[in-house]
Amino acid sequence: MKCSYCQQEIIRNLTVKELLFPFLIKSERCYFCQEKFKRITAPTCPTCSKAGWTTMCDECRQWQVLYPHYNFCHQALFCYDAAFKEWIYQYKFLGDLRLQATFTAELQTYFSQKKDWIICSIPLSGTRFVQRGFNQVEAFLQAAGITTQKLLEKTTDSSPQSEKNRQERLAAPQVFRATENAPMIKNKKVLLVDDVYTTGRTLFHAAEILQVYQPEKLQTFSLAR
Ligand SMILES: [Zn+2]
Ligand SMILES: [Zn+2]
Repeated sequence: MKCSYCQQEIIRNLTVKELLFPFLIKSERCYFCQEKFKRITAPTCPTCSKAGWTTMCDECRQWQVLYPHYNFCHQALFCYDAAFKEWIYQYKFLGDLRLQATFTAELQTYFSQKKDWIICSIPLSGTRFVQRGFNQVEAFLQAAGITTQKLLEKTTDSSPQSEKNRQERLAAPQVFRATENAPMIKNKKVLLVDDVYTTGRTLFHAAEILQVYQPEKLQTFSLAR
């Protein structure tokens, strides 16, 4: 099997379970690529997973003022550090679709606790989709076998968030609208998924649109924070 990041052959002994059920072999990273990424560990802000906080962080307090009726909760798996930035650069900006499976094992573990949730990825604008050829969030979810619903679409081609500073990001206008599927979330649990959580602006905008449809719960998730 090849490493789902560096594509080098992984040499290891299969477990008895894997020998009996070869389809159980998940995509995996080699030892080196496994060690590269840092998992977010406790203590973290309870509402956004920011490391180093035991109570709600300053950023979340600001969001709470802006969205007093939104009971938000964000979870993330990895630290948005140099290693993760390098991965996202190769995957998203260079468009290396092979990397969609890099975090499949971790995603499957996380999403196994979300079986009764409606999963929705953050959409790209039509132009961005044409430029990149794939929605990077949809692609990593698909690689992990996670079914999504298209509840949102992006209305405008704002310049990429990654080219903006924090203040510019926070001031960005609403860019999403609901699709005709959105009413299905009434009284259901919904999980919005993005690749990275930086300021939170994108996910709060997306959540703002879906809140109107009265989901029972609306939480958010990203691979990195
Ligand atoms: Zn590797
Ligand atoms: Zn926080």
